[in-house]
Amino acid sequence: MKIASVIVDVPAKQTDKAFDYLVPKQWEDMIQPGMRVIVPFGPRKIQGFVIEVKSTTEVKKLRELVEPMDLEPVLNDELIKLGDWLAENTLSFKIFAFQVMLPAALKAKYEKKVKMAEGVYLSDLPLNLHPYFKNGGMLDWDDAIKNGIVPHLQREAAKGLLEVVYLVKERVKKKQMKYIIPLVSKEDLLVEIQRLPANAQKQKQVLEYFINHPHEVEMRKLIAELNVSLSTIKALSNKNLLAETVKEIYRDPFKDHHFERRGPLPLTKAQEKAITPILHAIQTREHEVFLLYGVTGSGKTEIYLQSIQEVINNGKEAIVLVPEISLTPQMVNRFKGRFGEMVAVLHSGLSAGEKYDEWRKIQRKEVKVVVGARSAIFAPFENIGIIIIDEEHETSYKQEEMPRYHARDVAIKRAQTYNCPVVLGSATPSLESFARAKKKVYQLLSLPVRMNNKALPTVEIVDMREELRAGNRSMFSRKLFELLKDRLEKKQQSVLFLNKRGHSSFVMCRDCGYVVNCPKCDISLTYHRAGVQMKCHYCGYESVVPRACPECNSEYIRFFGTGTQKVEEELGKILPEAKVIRMDVDTTSRKGSHERLLKEFQDGKADILLGTQMIAKGLDFPNITLVGVLSADTMLHLPDFRSSEKTFQLLTQVSGRAGRHQLPGEVIIQTYTPEHYSIQLAGRQDYTQFFQQEMMVRRAHHYPPYYFLTLITVSHEQLLTAVSTTEKIVKYVRSKLSSEAVILGPSVSPIAKINNRYRYQCLIKYKREPNLTKTLKMILDQYQKEASKDGLLVSVDVNPFILM
Ligand code: ADP
Ligand code: ZN
Ligand code: ZN
Repeated sequence: MKIASVIVDVPAKQTDKAFDYLVPKQWEDMIQPGMRVIVPFGPRKIQGFVIEVKSTTEVKKLRELVEPMDLEPVLNDELIKLGDWLAENTLSFKIFAFQVMLPAALKAKYEKKVKMAEGVYLSDLPLNLHPYFKNGGMLDWDDAIKNGIVPHLQREAAKGLLEVVYLVKERVKKKQMKYIIPLVSKEDLLVEIQRLPANAQKQKQVLEYFINHPHEVEMRKLIAELNVSLSTIKALSNKNLLAETVKEIYRDPFKDHHFERRGPLPLTKAQEKAITPILHAIQTREHEVFLLYGVTGSGKTEIYLQSIQEVINNGKEAIVLVPEISLTPQMVNRFKGRFGEMVAVLHSGLSAGEKYDEWRKIQRKEVKVVVGARSAIFAPFENIGIIIIDEEHETSYKQEEMPRYHARDVAIKRAQTYNCPVVLGSATPSLESFARAKKKVYQLLSLPVRMNNKALPTVEIVDMREELRAGNRSMFSRKLFELLKDRLEKKQQSVLFLNKRGHSSFVMCRDCGYVVNCPKCDISLTYHRAGVQMKCHYCGYESVVPRACPECNSEYIRFFGTGTQKVEEELGKILPEAKVIRMDVDTTSRKGSHERLLKEFQDGKADILLGTQMIAKGLDFPNITLVGVLSADTMLHLPDFRSSEKTFQLLTQVSGRAGRHQLPGEVIIQTYTPEHYSIQLAGRQDYTQFFQQEMMVRRAHHYPPYYFLTLITVSHEQLLTAVSTTEKIVKYVRSKLSSEAVILGPSVSPIAKINNRYRYQCLIKYKREPNLTKTLKMILDQYQKEASKDGLLVSVDVNPFILM
């Protein structure tokens, strides 16, 4: 008797465990852990993951599993264990933890087909399968099940002769091309040529072509090249020697890029020093986490590349994570240029089918290196030798939906399993990581100077209060305006940067820069348009908007924020001759528009690039000599305890955009709070000082890395239900945790209402609470059971990055 333990695709508390199913005789040899299967569940048939195959069970009345969905496991043993760990540590449903590891093509409704692998001939397959692949086409999975041949298919798939493909059903019809493939081997072709009548010259010619070219060929190309007719090809396919297939043509953003091969560069002394411990860890198979701290352009990527080379020389594999937004052709070029075909790239520009193709390359061990955004951390390698996370401070490494994982934690977990190093790289490490490096939990490696000792750009901080006093009410300071004009005359390029306005606004005095903060939490109070109220969304403190500034008595105290569109309008007025490219969510929502706009700017089609966060990265153009930050305050006063850190990181990063090449660069930072340390220190690019100062603030207010955080968010259509539920949760948490823990709430979320649902939250700050996980699970058990009944939603985010 064979029994499969299955995690079913029903994301609910009651079903968040393995269910046992009897494996029917016909599938007994086939079902393996890590495969997806169809199982009966109540009256329905649903999908699930087999996590274990065993011979006994406690369950009395076993139901039979219906059928397998895969020819080979999609998750290996390590990933199955990782899924358990992920579910446990992020308090996620197990089914989500498994699904997040797979490419989208395996999650949604796609047409599943079986086809012969490349270079495989019909004659390589057993006779009983010939009828299904005779036309060289694809066999529907459903037909395979109906005809009872799946175990046969599996045997051939295990030998690499057959493979499963997913065809994405899309409304937009993809471009398709006709291909001709040979169905028999070279030897058989030779025999067939002998057999053809002497006058079948054209047919012979075609078959000869395939002797030298045993792969598929585009039909049009074949006809043109050999000057044959369609009927010649039809004649051969009627004899089952050739077949016609159709292939989808995907849009691969990197396809037309020519990747020039480049060898390793001789390392500088500083690079030598930094790479030595990494190479040592690779060679001695030690797990260690390195924090590679070095400004942009200090040679970090070269260290990544040479470490990966060592890993490949050792017969192992490498995972490289970069933020989605940095996954530019230039970036990919560095890796493909060094390692060529050994690199798979996973990024959002690929269609679901293409992503699946890249994933298959990894699974089939056709590549050694994967470069990708967050989810590439689940690449199904089985012999990992290094994991690299570039720009490790980026918050996009945290997933904001279940499972709410941080790629850094997953990286460390996997690296422990494989006994290999993790390298975290950044010019502005997260406070958490740098603190760990200081405590020697991570090993700190530094690259103190830019390559070629190129100077950092000069940074000038402009006090916007002074501008107001001097009668300048524009959003451009006199200095910035002057420099913009200067660059226009010199035909050099400028970048103007406007922090995306947060979801909420704060109240600021335009005369003195005073911002109203919560007295207890040291974050700015959020202005609520509806009333004249300001609220703290960590602890719930409320206050009315003052009529005059408490600091300077000015009446210019009001909520603050400007959009990119408004800036563009004003630019049009003051510099009508300047050509401006605006990049924000509105102008880049269409696929590919991001790259197109950047390309236009690179090609010199505009003088000024105006944009939000998204332009902070990946800009490396020689002609940029001026960077202007229109208002450093908008990010600084987001209701988030990380706002100083984010401001520092962002300002450092945008400053790095200017003067990366021959021409020296200048940076202007406009602000109403020039004395704030994160602005001052970003101006001087002084990370060490910033770290010390910010750590004091974090300690004083019980924030990470001194304390851990967990955020519970409750939402419901009825305001009262949301509040009272949060109230109950707060009381319950208080009763279960020690008096050391700080439990805040109920307080209204910074986004108080989404989709007509009121949102309230409870924030927990703690150091060591052995009871916490159990307590949180109890809460989820309780409310996730109720969820289906009346629409109450309770979510828990351990180590949250977005506190909204
Ligand atoms: P980072 O990743 O820290 O931004 P890079 O590795 O991209 O830095 O290096 C910045 C520039 O210096 C790149 O153009 C790179 O090709 C060059 N570079 C890096 N290391 C060396 C070296 N050892 N010798 C010469 N040039 C180097
Ligand atoms: Zn004031
Ligand atoms: Zn507060």
